[in-house]
Amino acid sequence: MRSYSLIAPAKINLYLEIIGHRPDGYHELAMILQSIDLADQIDLHAASTEAIRVYCNHPQVPTDNSNLAYRAAELMARQFPDVFSNFGGIDITVTKRIPVAAGLAGGSTNAAAVLVGIDLLWNLGLTKSELEELGATLGSDVPFCISGGTVIATGRGEQLSPLPSLNHIHLVLAKYRSLEVSTPWAYKTYRQEFGSSYVKNTEDLVARANAVHSGEMVKAILDKDAAKISQKLHNDLEKVVLPAYPKVLQLRELFASQEGVLGTMMSGSGPSVFAIVESKAQAEIVKQQIRTAIPDEDLELFVTQTIANGIQILQGIGDR
Ligand code: ATP
Repeated sequence: MRSYSLIAPAKINLYLEIIGHRPDGYHELAMILQSIDLADQIDLHAASTEAIRVYCNHPQVPTDNSNLAYRAAELMARQFPDVFSNFGGIDITVTKRIPVAAGLAGGSTNAAAVLVGIDLLWNLGLTKSELEELGATLGSDVPFCISGGTVIATGRGEQLSPLPSLNHIHLVLAKYRSLEVSTPWAYKTYRQEFGSSYVKNTEDLVARANAVHSGEMVKAILDKDAAKISQKLHNDLEKVVLPAYPKVLQLRELFASQEGVLGTMMSGSGPSVFAIVESKAQAEIVKQQIRTAIPDEDLELFVTQTIANGIQILQGIGDR
């Protein structure tokens, strides 16, 4: 094949607990990650230029070697230099729908799509765990984004235990276009303010992280009970982001006050906020109510839902 088009879904965090600080500088986390149907499209095209080139329709997204999609292609070229020189270059077109710097793993899911797409383009036949291992070197969320669905993520987010799929939980998602929260800032501030409560012993760190497996949120997911899931939403980073970003706090409170909203939470390090609602029709009503309350065009609003998959192949076009 000469070209592949892939769909790269965003994720939300149904649960994010910061348990401690690891010797490697990362945080020990217990998270529940959930794919949603808000997605970017990644088109990969084998080129004759022997270069990696990235094109993107979003002005905030770099197209140089700082783009995570570029870095994923560069990683594959480094891992498989003979195949790379045999196949030539790669053109990557990123069609962005996922809000940027939103806590929705937009860059990570693009990188995951490039890994999956190049594996196909170059006929490498890599296994899922080989792709996940490569992805982990690019970012903690990349391994999850490959297969997606509903997953417990521990360690720094790269140790994955899939849960039964949680389709069709309806959501409204909101993000101010011009508002960005730096993920390193959020974790650093959390450490400064709440680090004294961290679990210090390495064994206890792992045990605490693993406790998520038998926790209330997992039980609610196993029951596929949207109302119970909504009551158990948790994100430690809200403790630092909400006080520092009044607009995010306002959104969070506005969602909570809407009729039909079962639960609301900030995703990842924010600033996107989501609300769980009972149906698609209810989601449209809540979206409209938020729009009426905040007519500011800087506020992006989406009706979306949970899905059971990560990267999807849309089509392959080839001459072989
Ligand atoms: P996470 O949830 O994994 O912390 P995020 O959703 O908060 O990620 P991204 O959308 O990945 O954040 O963007 C973070 C920064 O990365 C942006 O400021 C952007 O300039 C840069 N970036 C690099 N590559 C990409 C990409 N392919 N898509 C989006 N942003 C990218």
